[in-house]
Amino acid sequence: MPPVFRFAPSPNGYLHLGHALSALLNADRARAGGRLLLRIEDIDEARCRPEFEAAIYEDLAWLGITWERPVRRQSEHYDDYRTALARLDAMDLVYPSFESRAEIARMVTKREPWPRDPDGTPLYPGDAKSISAAERARRMATAEPYALRLDMQAAIARAGSLTWDETGAGPAGETGTIAADPALWGDVILARKGTPTSYHLAVVVDDAAQGITDVVRGCDLFHSTSVHRLLQALLGLPQPRYHHHRLILDADGRKLSKSTQATGLRELRARGVPAAGIRALVGLD
Ligand code: GLU
Repeated sequence: MPPVFRFAPSPNGYLHLGHALSALLNADRARAGGRLLLRIEDIDEARCRPEFEAAIYEDLAWLGITWERPVRRQSEHYDDYRTALARLDAMDLVYPSFESRAEIARMVTKREPWPRDPDGTPLYPGDAKSISAAERARRMATAEPYALRLDMQAAIARAGSLTWDETGAGPAGETGTIAADPALWGDVILARKGTPTSYHLAVVVDDAAQGITDVVRGCDLFHSTSVHRLLQALLGLPQPRYHHHRLILDADGRKLSKSTQATGLRELRARGVPAAGIRALVGLD
């Protein structure tokens, strides 16, 4: 069976050199004897736009990358995420929380020092876990917003210890067999009122649905892999191999953002940089 790779951009801005590195690494591997699938991660309906999605296809084609059709668009697969969520719920691993991000920030200032996840967000303190089933149902039926969270402690107790096979490296050079540490993330959000999935849930459901054998992506997602391994184990999904690659940084050493014009593929193209020149700019060849 040939390895199956994927490039999974979010259409919430234009692609930059960081995306080009990721897409080219996946395409090079697929060209050497594998398949390349494309996935449009468009669950954030407020920020994703059709013109950004069209630009993704255009920029990838300009780079000389070819991918299989049909493209999987996450917004067309909400039922798959609902099914996965229902399975986790049936294991008693899901509960609703009702606090806003600002409220959580206030709650934890009173309890400092308070643990933060690898992205710097304070862990959810778990207060809503003690709300009774009847009260949960009552509040979820109102207009009040809520997030559905994974009961991390119970999930870890159920899944046991997990590892993954890393052929790239994490931010601290971690490579080889990595022990997953999903507790770093606390009770992660799996879905919200009106949005049946979060990034973490969608990515594991989709990697399995698309038969992805090899995940090649930026090392900013290295620690997220712990959550992905946990969800794969709970949902009985296959475990891909992982290769986390270096990030392209800006002149100040910061990760590129979608608004960094100077490194946008369209800006570089408009300035006359040939597609072949992009490989050199991202340190390939
Ligand atoms: N959609 C994510 C991003 O654009 C990538 C997700 C992944 O590769 O797992 O950063």
